[in-house]
Amino acid sequence: MRETKLGADMPRTPSWRLDGRRALVTGAGRGIGMAAAVALAEAGADVTLVARSAPEVQGVATALRAAGHRASAATLDVTDAESVARFVRETGPYPILVNNAGTNRPAPLTDTPDGDIDVMLDLNVRAALVVAREVVRGLVAAGQGGSIIQISSQMGHVGAARRTVYCASKHALEGMTKALACEVGPHGIRVNSVCPTFIATDMTRAQLERQDFRAEVLAKIPLGRLGELCDIMGPVVFLASDAAALMTGASLLVDGGWTAA
Ligand code: NAP
Repeated sequence: MRETKLGADMPRTPSWRLDGRRALVTGAGRGIGMAAAVALAEAGADVTLVARSAPEVQGVATALRAAGHRASAATLDVTDAESVARFVRETGPYPILVNNAGTNRPAPLTDTPDGDIDVMLDLNVRAALVVAREVVRGLVAAGQGGSIIQISSQMGHVGAARRTVYCASKHALEGMTKALACEVGPHGIRVNSVCPTFIATDMTRAQLERQDFRAEVLAKIPLGRLGELCDIMGPVVFLASDAAALMTGASLLVDGGWTAA
């Protein structure tokens, strides 16, 4: 086949590669955070994985290194603001952040104790703000741009029974994404969110094993299936990469059409 070259006047597809870029992924020991870390490492990033359980993040980092990728792991509780600040100061700057650590304790609001409200808002909102703040401080001090990717949820766009606090937290994350995008755009830092539908992880598996709940969920997804970990990997790499260079304050719905219906 004759090799043809694109003329210099033709636009070129920006690269999705992340070679040489450092990435911090919170809650990277399992589930969606692990998938984000693998995706970024496979795209060439040097990934730092953090969570509270050392064996999980270390296991993922070891597997990534064994496959020839660049990865390290550390124990970090992202709800401990002082530790987060120290960690990012000592190990950053991070031009890519996946703000992923999050949780849910589904129940009607009237049955939700103060402690559960605190746990969800502390991790899903306050810790996300603190981690983003420290990463932005590091980038601005270094005069570097970057990409912050918030793992939000379709529940950041719609409501659902038994999810009032979770929805409040994810709608907050969506607001944070837009506001921070406005604030840090002039520094060349982009902020976007990825909003998955239900994916079977430790957070959701027990609920999804209940056939009535699973059927209720599937009925709301036009594509007719639950999400899988690999479904969020492309969107995360895309948002981290130069292919998304003009995207900020945006929300990528990875929901099989849940919010379109
Ligand atoms: P998961 O399987 O429960 O994993 C959560 C991860 O976060 C774990 O690595 C956990 O590790 C870490 N983590 C929890 N508390 C932490 C803390 N204080 N400091 C640092 N790390 C912490 O959950 P997932 O389903 O993958 O969910 C990840 C994100 O996706 C969450 O923000 C969730 O809201 C969002 N999401 C999930 C779904 C879904 O259907 N699964 C759908 C939409 C959005 P340690 O316990 O070791 O710290």
